[in-house]
Amino acid sequence: THFGFETVPEAEKAGRVQGVFNSVASKYDIMNDVMSVGIHRVWKDAMMDWLAPCPGQRLLDVAGGTGDISYRFLKRAGHGHATVLDITTPMLEAGRTRAEADQMANSLDWVTGDAMALPFKNNTFDVYTISFGIRNVTRPQEALNEAYRVLKPGGRLMVLEFSQLPNPAMQKAYDLYSFNVIPRMGKLIANDYDSYQYLVESIRNFPDQETFLGMLRKAGFGNAKYRNLSLGIATLHSGWKL
Ligand code: SAM
Repeated sequence: THFGFETVPEAEKAGRVQGVFNSVASKYDIMNDVMSVGIHRVWKDAMMDWLAPCPGQRLLDVAGGTGDISYRFLKRAGHGHATVLDITTPMLEAGRTRAEADQMANSLDWVTGDAMALPFKNNTFDVYTISFGIRNVTRPQEALNEAYRVLKPGGRLMVLEFSQLPNPAMQKAYDLYSFNVIPRMGKLIANDYDSYQYLVESIRNFPDQETFLGMLRKAGFGNAKYRNLSLGIATLHSGWKL
């Protein structure tokens, strides 16, 4: 693009992603709030509204990090079980500490693993979520195929991810803001310019809403749909294993 950033070669991407999340793990929750001015909470609530968790459901929360989505899911469901899977163990450790403090430990499992090769049997979960995670996965289509495999028939996938703004003028303004402001804020607050530059580049390189919808369908998901949040800055994609 006109910003001149390079696309990270596939072989390098996984290592770079791990480096980013290893270095931000302890500050992840606070940085999330600062960078998004708390808006990620609104988006996650919108995700729960559409997902409508039911009592007793088994959730797999991939790229679950510190367990934010699992927490919300369990709270809404009343009771249930959530498995948080992430490739970066320090993110899981930060989450586990929080869960123990909140006496949530019994409803949660923490598993280190890769979204592209899930360590679970076919037809295991009622719900699969991935929130601000699939953009970091080296081959997103493989993650979607795995999601389909581990869901029970009748199970549901929901993806929350940054996306592209359908309005070109808005996209341009958003690009200017994100490429100029976000890495500098990262430097200022977390003394980490590179991680936040990666964040911005990975958002811009991720497929747009319609393309990603096609990837859900390709993985086998039926009744696949999406809803834009905040003008398309983020998007929810939903699909069913029918
Ligand atoms: N889901 C949480 C949220 O919404 O706040 C955390 C999202 S965090 C931005 C992205 C997470 O994706 C990181 O914890 C990172 O370790 C994880 N991740 C990146 N690549 C992954 C992969 N291939 N498999 C599983 N997790 C991965």
